[in-house]
Amino acid sequence: MAIDDPAPRLRPVTVVTGGSRGIGAATCVRLASDGHDLALGYVSDTEAAERTAAAVRDAGARCVTVRADTSVEADVERLFDIAADRLGPVTGLVNNAGVTGPLGRLADTSTDTLRRVLDVNLLGVLLCCRRAAKDMTATGAGAIVNVSSAAATLGSPGDFVHYAATKAAADALTVGLSKELGPDGVRVNAVAPGMIDTDMHATAGDPNRAHTAAAGIPLGRPGAAPEIAAAIAWLLSDEASYVTGTVLRVAGGR
Ligand code: NAP
Repeated sequence: MAIDDPAPRLRPVTVVTGGSRGIGAATCVRLASDGHDLALGYVSDTEAAERTAAAVRDAGARCVTVRADTSVEADVERLFDIAADRLGPVTGLVNNAGVTGPLGRLADTSTDTLRRVLDVNLLGVLLCCRRAAKDMTATGAGAIVNVSSAAATLGSPGDFVHYAATKAAADALTVGLSKELGPDGVRVNAVAPGMIDTDMHATAGDPNRAHTAAAGIPLGRPGAAPEIAAAIAWLLSDEASYVTGTVLRVAGGR
């Protein structure tokens, strides 16, 4: 007796903000190997975005790169519009784009830096979550992962307390939005990385920061971006179908 082929399973379509470098790039490559098609957002580094997109396509996924500053409403709307037009209805969002500003005490931090960190890390996450909430509630399914930080509970004194505050806000947003969207079939979680070896520390002014911090990390080393990508990929997957409103700390014991 011939057995009909089951209907082909639709591939997830996931928007990753800040997908050009670091944790976001590792996440794009990991999700591609897990079967997602990807809309890769970035703000300035086109070369890095195209390099990551090539790795994603090598893994067999479709990928569209979109230059989009997450702190700008029109850019966020364009990112989601292009994702839907080119790849299909968006089923996943990774709110990964984030900035710290220069390392230093709050007393020495400029208003421009405070405003930029708030705009990208909080307003940007809100704008992306708002659009995803509209799109996903319309289809009755979806998953959002916000990339928070262990800084949300450690506070980052002397380094960037303003950054830590935005990450604590992202954790609160994760809890509240998970309750708001749970009845619509949309899961919302966060991953809180510890000290991860990426460009972020050089951008903040100390290229060796992740390694000099190793002594204070119970596992004795900084994390690698693929170790965060694995947690994000799990939270987006069906394996985490009953997980919502959680902040998963991936910080080597810190
Ligand atoms: P990274 O290496 O500095 O990469 C930052 C990424 O974000 C880049 O792809 C960058 O795009 C993008 N980006 C920055 N501002 C943006 C904006 N306004 N709009 C869109 N994209 C923007 O940083 P990372 O270490 O991978 O950090 C990724 C996330 O993890 C951040 O949310 C960060 O707070 C969080 N995190 C990092 C660590 C760590 O130790 N590294 C620890 C805890 C949490 P371009 O390439 O175009 O510049």
